Amino acid sequence: MKITFHGAAGGVTGSQHKLESEGASILLDCGMFQGRRKDAEKKNREMPFPARSIDAVVLSHAHIDHSGRLPLLVQEGFTGPIYTTPATIDLCQSMLRDTAHIAESDAVFVNRHRSHETGSDIVEPLFTMADAEATMPLFRPVPYRTPTSIAGGLTMEAYDAGHILGSSSIVLTDGKTRLGFSGDVGRPGLPIIRDPEPLPPVDYLIMESTYGSRRHPQQGEALQRLEEVVKRTIGRGGRLIIPAFAVGRTQQIVLLLHQLINEKRIPPVPMFVDSPLAVDVTKTFRAHPECFDAETAKYLEEGEDPFGFKRLTYVREAEGSKKLNDLRGPFIVISPSGMCEAGRILHHLRHNVGDPKNTVLITGYQAENTLGRKLVNGMKSVRIFGIPTEVNAEIESLDELSGHADAAELIAWMKPTTSALKKVFLVHGEPGESAPLAELIRSTYGIEAISVRPGQVYDLLPVTQKIVHAV
Ligand SMILES: [Zn+2]
Ligand SMILES: [Zn+2]
Repeated sequence: MKITFHGAAGGVTGSQHKLESEGASILLDCGMFQGRRKDAEKKNREMPFPARSIDAVVLSHAHIDHSGRLPLLVQEGFTGPIYTTPATIDLCQSMLRDTAHIAESDAVFVNRHRSHETGSDIVEPLFTMADAEATMPLFRPVPYRTPTSIAGGLTMEAYDAGHILGSSSIVLTDGKTRLGFSGDVGRPGLPIIRDPEPLPPVDYLIMESTYGSRRHPQQGEALQRLEEVVKRTIGRGGRLIIPAFAVGRTQQIVLLLHQLINEKRIPPVPMFVDSPLAVDVTKTFRAHPECFDAETAKYLEEGEDPFGFKRLTYVREAEGSKKLNDLRGPFIVISPSGMCEAGRILHHLRHNVGDPKNTVLITGYQAENTLGRKLVNGMKSVRIFGIPTEVNAEIESLDELSGHADAAELIAWMKPTTSALKKVFLVHGEPGESAPLAELIRSTYGIEAISVRPGQVYDLLPVTQKIVHAV
């Protein structure tokens, strides 16, 4: 086997690795680059190999930085199967269509704007709704813990990664060499989904390193922190604006707010989930109780809808979204995108970040150069839709809800894989995160760990049966 790292190598987004085995080429993820718009746009358009040369795709989970370029691959001629879990397929149905819709309407917006300037080129969307639709029939469901033969004489098996609904870590083997691919690794105790499952021993491991140098606050504090932020904001008569990924984070926050309301710990103010995608995705969550943890399953058993309650309104139409600006008095709105890069959250931020009564609550990882990162970094003036906007609102982060394992959790998660582990390839992390994690792996297990760079190629030679004991 041979592996080439094309994306999420030396950075977090654009997850894409090419595995070659017996003349076949298999892509692990086909994700979109995010961040500084021009750079990301260029990288997204350049597929580093002919799409027709790929025989199959194995997808770890539905997040766009892992799945977002599948329609582009199809547009360029890929016709093979895409193997992933049933819940991931359902999520991709909504998310890839949503991404196509945003790409198409962004292109229309930019072209309308540019037609006033002379000599500027017409912008084409990265892919269209037709490309997204053409991707759907290629998905092949692979439930957790079900060994499945794919191309190149390989067998794959998916394990619950505990990161978002349907997320998986995958083990691939040709009978001689075992390769583990972590996907994004979640954390024990996250609301709704199950804890990450351990992988069996492998010879080589591709592992994420998003928080390779950090330690998260304790999980249980999320509810209390959320309670404090809600009370403080409402006490000022302000609005609480929560940028959140439509998949996962939105449903987690809804569940926590539900709990706080049930326990009468916060006043009953109006709450909104403002996103057509979140509406669809929440339906998908309801359809996959097999992925829930015990606590969420109990809610369902007791006949309660964990994702809906009296004070909460889901807003699908753009008109309803605009009307929120005219509401008087405090309210809470949850809206994507989670990194404040696109979507309805931009309108809410534009209307609300100038007022010191309001709070913006950041709930997840913010990639370099995103608006979310600038807010977290405390910038007092930011550009929203290109317009300089003053930031006076309180900016808070709820890191407790992070969907990614921290350094200690990654070290603990990988332990069961290490009995014969030869090499770890660290992906999905900025160099400042992956380098310290590589060092920690070396010092903990005495195993070689490499922070990979884009375009690097490694031969995965079969490991002779020598047992390396973990320290
Ligand atoms: Zn993810
Ligand atoms: Zn990711």
